[in-house]
Amino acid sequence: MKEIADKIKIVLVETSHPGNIGAAARAMKTMGLENLTLVQPKDYPCVEATARAAGADDVLANAAVVETLEEAIEDATYVLGTSARLRTLRWPGIDPRKAAQESVEAVTNGGSVALVFGRESSGLSNEELSLCHKLIHIPVNPDYSSLNLAAAVQVICYELRILLESDNQPVVVDDSGEPPASAGDMESFIQQLEQTLTHIDYLDPDNPRKSMPRLRRLFHRARMSRNEVSLLRGILKQIGKIT
Ligand code: SAH
Repeated sequence: MKEIADKIKIVLVETSHPGNIGAAARAMKTMGLENLTLVQPKDYPCVEATARAAGADDVLANAAVVETLEEAIEDATYVLGTSARLRTLRWPGIDPRKAAQESVEAVTNGGSVALVFGRESSGLSNEELSLCHKLIHIPVNPDYSSLNLAAAVQVICYELRILLESDNQPVVVDDSGEPPASAGDMESFIQQLEQTLTHIDYLDPDNPRKSMPRLRRLFHRARMSRNEVSLLRGILKQIGKIT
């Protein structure tokens, strides 16, 4: 169980209240998760975070602090964002139980997972959401839907705990033996794709259309292996050479 939990990290983006960071660390540790990454926390380290961590301060002490979400998820092969708002679910949406299942599946298939949580005031931006494979929405009372950040972390980590403790964990679905591409691999590929499409005049840099977000979504959905990404990058390189 621990081997799987260790391949799953919680990412908190620009958290304003240090108390929420501490409470999230506590929520994680009670459920057996320990990897925390903070993207530009507003006020951290901070005594309030440590106080609210209530003994989970080792999770805080080991937390990585980074500048961008791209950096936080670079090594992850499966990235799930969270959204308080249903209307952002233009992106493929899942509930916490399915998210736990897909996360464990991704790890069982040789990958690692990042679960991304947004700002207290405004959640995740569209650009940040577009870096995610899918979005998790925790079902809530439509008349009072405001869930605290650390409470949201608790719900997701609880579902993981239940699944990891149960006997019917997802089976391995990918028997290709090829390691999955990481978010960093995908990002480099998407950048090269954009450059090539601009080079061959498919994209007009002065008048960007919706093509890149669409292509990003398509390639995310494909869940490519590292070798497949290399194959596509090789083709793009060749296009660049002859045009
Ligand atoms: N006013 C913000 C609310 C953000 S709540 C907004 O409208 O987006 C802060 C974070 O808690 C969210 O970014 C998300 O990570 C998590 N969260 C809160 N409620 C959630 C829900 N119902 N489902 C999934 N995540 C939720």
